[in-house]
Amino acid sequence: GEGLPRPEQTRVMVVANQKGGVGKTTTTVNLAASLALHGARVLVVDLDPQGNASTALGIDHHAEVPSIYDVLVESKPLAEVVQPVPDVEGLFCAPATIDLAGAEIELVSLVARESRLQRAIQAYEQPLDYILIDCPPSLGLLTVNALVAGAEVLIPIQCEYYALEGLGQLLRNVDLVRGHLNPALHVSTILLTMYDGRTRLASQVADEVRSHFGNEVLRTSIPRSVRISEAPSYGQTVLTYDPGSSGALSYFEAAREIALRGVGVTYDGEHAHMGT
Ligand code: ADP
Ligand code: MG
Repeated sequence: GEGLPRPEQTRVMVVANQKGGVGKTTTTVNLAASLALHGARVLVVDLDPQGNASTALGIDHHAEVPSIYDVLVESKPLAEVVQPVPDVEGLFCAPATIDLAGAEIELVSLVARESRLQRAIQAYEQPLDYILIDCPPSLGLLTVNALVAGAEVLIPIQCEYYALEGLGQLLRNVDLVRGHLNPALHVSTILLTMYDGRTRLASQVADEVRSHFGNEVLRTSIPRSVRISEAPSYGQTVLTYDPGSSGALSYFEAAREIALRGVGVTYDGEHAHMGT
């Protein structure tokens, strides 16, 4: 895992898909942990009021904890809410508390309501290689804040019927935000999640996604794995919960592919984990 190239500038990746249950949070925390284990400094921004990413990283996020709500609505500096993730060096989290459920409404009347996260990130002075933003399953102001703050969109797609349905709306929002607020924004990465290579449906969906998106689709896909789904209840990512599991290896490999693509190195797939 040592020796992966680090990006010249912080890569801000927005993990979005307005469908729930497609693996946004799972992908955010496990990719973040993988990148950190590869030697990068990584911040996870939990932008979902459910706080599932915070939970999965073992970060306290009860109502009194300083959180991303305070950053977005009260203009608290990001540095005052960031916590180190236990057990993973170089990994940090800005947690979400239940307060965030009200932010979607409260933001409406604030100045620069779409760019509050962007400003907070720009003012954050700690060196970081990656910021991964876990979005809620909607296209409201929280997700818009993420799309304004980041240059890259990472879309996890679950290999199921209707996998592409609803993505048009997300892609239109990406175009709108690019046109009006953030010219650098683009869909850089598609990751197939919960892939079961034994079923014809999964491989059909994977083919469909690859022909629709082409190069953005990572060659590494994430298999369905019980270990991945168990890890959050221990406040751990699968990378520390069961490092040798197929789920851990596939996220570790996806992180490697993302890091190499980021510096323009063609991914050879040499170490690719063939999920089943
Ligand atoms: P989202 O954030 O898009 O709503 P989650 O990441 O919370 O989706 O995933 C939805 C559910 O699927 C969770 O219970 C999670 O543990 C489970 N899950 C996600 N990825 C996998 C996987 N590769 N294998 C097995 N279960 C998974
Ligand atoms: Mg989620």
